Amino acid sequence: MNLTTPISSLNRVGKTAAAHLKRLNIKNVGNLLSYFPFRYEDYRQIYKIRDLQEGVTATVLVRVEFLNNKRSRRRGKNIIEAMVSDDSGSLRVVWFNQPFISKILQTGDQIYLSGKISVDMFGVKMNSPHYEKFKERQSHTARLVPMYPLTHGVSQKQMRYLVEQVLPLADKMKDWLPEEVIEKYDFAPLSAAVRGIHFPDDEIELKQSTDRLKFNELLLLQLKAEITRANRTKRNAPKMNFFEQEIKNFVSSLPYKLTDTQRLSAWEVLQDLQKDIPMNRLLSGDVGSGKTIVAGICLLNVVLNKFQGVLMAPTEILANQHYNTLCKLLGDKVRIALLTNAKFSIFNFQFSSKVKSNNKKEVFDKIKNGEVDIIIGTHALLGDKVNFSKLGMVVVDEQHRFGVNQRKLIKEKGAGTHFLSMTATPIPRSFALMVYGDLDVSIISQMPLGRKKIMTRLVEEHNRQKAYEFIGAQVKQGRQVFVICPLIEEKLKEDETELEINNYQPAWNVSLEKKSVMSEYEKLSKNIFPNLRVGYLHGKMKNEEKDLIMKKFKDKEIDILVSTSVVEVGVDIPNATVMMIEGAERFGLAQLHQFRGRVGRSEYQSYCFLFPQKQTQKSSERLKYFERENNGFKLAEKDLEIRGPGDVYGTAQSGEENLRLAKLTDQELVKKARETAKELAPKLAKYPGLKAKFGAWEKSIHLE
Ligand code: ADP
Ligand code: MG
Repeated sequence: MNLTTPISSLNRVGKTAAAHLKRLNIKNVGNLLSYFPFRYEDYRQIYKIRDLQEGVTATVLVRVEFLNNKRSRRRGKNIIEAMVSDDSGSLRVVWFNQPFISKILQTGDQIYLSGKISVDMFGVKMNSPHYEKFKERQSHTARLVPMYPLTHGVSQKQMRYLVEQVLPLADKMKDWLPEEVIEKYDFAPLSAAVRGIHFPDDEIELKQSTDRLKFNELLLLQLKAEITRANRTKRNAPKMNFFEQEIKNFVSSLPYKLTDTQRLSAWEVLQDLQKDIPMNRLLSGDVGSGKTIVAGICLLNVVLNKFQGVLMAPTEILANQHYNTLCKLLGDKVRIALLTNAKFSIFNFQFSSKVKSNNKKEVFDKIKNGEVDIIIGTHALLGDKVNFSKLGMVVVDEQHRFGVNQRKLIKEKGAGTHFLSMTATPIPRSFALMVYGDLDVSIISQMPLGRKKIMTRLVEEHNRQKAYEFIGAQVKQGRQVFVICPLIEEKLKEDETELEINNYQPAWNVSLEKKSVMSEYEKLSKNIFPNLRVGYLHGKMKNEEKDLIMKKFKDKEIDILVSTSVVEVGVDIPNATVMMIEGAERFGLAQLHQFRGRVGRSEYQSYCFLFPQKQTQKSSERLKYFERENNGFKLAEKDLEIRGPGDVYGTAQSGEENLRLAKLTDQELVKKARETAKELAPKLAKYPGLKAKFGAWEKSIHLE
């Protein structure tokens, strides 16, 4: 047997079991060894029967005195009753519907039992405990017992049984981490770590093992970032001069004064543009912090260098909004075009000189001939027919909202140009460095002066009516309202409730989302606000429909807009002053903050109401914190602490999808991995083992 031996040649793996295991991506021995537990039950302490107390979960080492297999008369269930004893007393045990136990256990056997103790009029009792015959090394009881993420048809016991069979083969795994790294950080060798994570003797072995395996993951991720960065710096991009006077004039012509961090961010970008290697920078700033104008300043500088600039937005409305903004500010200096994949796939094209054109060819020609300077649009910009005459910089707004494939396309289209992505997800700087190993980061950490603080209230159920009255009054004054519907998690089917599911991601689907929106919409439009104009948005609607609704909302033809969290509306609706969030406890702080950022964009006082569905001590503390705290970065930090980066930034975004054990918050290990990656990346060829592993890993993540 070796690491590539198929799983079906193991003991007790038939066709069905093999099929179940395949669902967990376990096809061979190597896969099985790399399938790690996600938690452990501590059954190490062995109790004497005399010391057992009601309610505790305990392990006992006992002798089977008596075992009886019977059928319950009422419900036809199989019941096994046993009496077991140690030198301190005896204990009754009951198992339901596990008739095979009577074939495995016999009177006189020495066994371990782990389970919960109950007490009735006849004394102490254990219900359906884990059981295992006494042997030299236990695997299911009397130790730190590994618990695996499972799927239907595979049990914990089965899993442990299988892993135990192949565990000695861990020694055949080649350790690809260079000896010097292992020594430097005193890591466990790979084989020991694999054995130790499955069946650790104690916490120390468990920690050493997990640390080593976490480091593996983090190192590969950081190596990738290092190599990407190195490749980028080898490529050429046009060097852009800094047109200082022109930029200064432009900035002083703005209707407002830039904040210090807007200024700094723009300066950082302009510095990058002066280099002949492609910029790859992330501009992170809270909702409403003014990222667009920073992009505008940099685009102007690009145009002054006689290059074209692109600003790409995730939605039609947003592209329109940017177009209008930049036309107002730059329209007299620069030729600006809008290109979106508008309704009925007719290309919509506008020039800032107010010349409109619906002629596709003309549009493409003008871009190709360099007759426009700044091209604003949606992913329509990624089409084959769009060719630039002299592309100098690409700006992608709300980059996290583009799909993986679109992001890839953007990268390909923009190869050899300067690249700026913008996100409203606040990212603490220290953390950004880890997550985005290949990116430089600029952060706008201040809000423009004069913004009114959004008043946030956690609304108790008995105050709901009052809140509705308040909202009604706001609409009467001409304001508008956003309503965010709760996330609905799919209920587990009855027979799955016993299963342990590795549920990092809440079950979520578009139909449920739609249901949530429609029921809220019905309630508000029929019962609560029958006299107001209520509209809705959900993920099942076509893009054109969504855009139409947003347009109506913007044009004040809708008073109250009900939507899901998924249909994010990053659009400026200054007239909206109320954000109402149902099921607020289900959202992370960073996300709540995003919602809240949609109001408070005008001189009117704005409000955010949180309606929890179910309150726990923890969630109410969290929401109370949100009530007080208006700073997106502080909220993001708190969120990271509570939920981890994958949930906060999206798994794809944080790179966490490629991590199974490690968290990006494992700061010490991340630091070590970064340092190691920096050192090893330039001389990877010297480490054939590591190089091969890295290659295989890269391939595997590309396949996913
Ligand atoms: P976001 O960072 O969310 O993309 P925007 O760029 O849309 O924010 O800016 C939000 C609003 O703030 C816009 O109306 C913009 O004109 C305004 N704004 C931007 N910078 C400033 C500033 N320094 N002072 C005042 N208002 C500003
Ligand atoms: Mg924006």
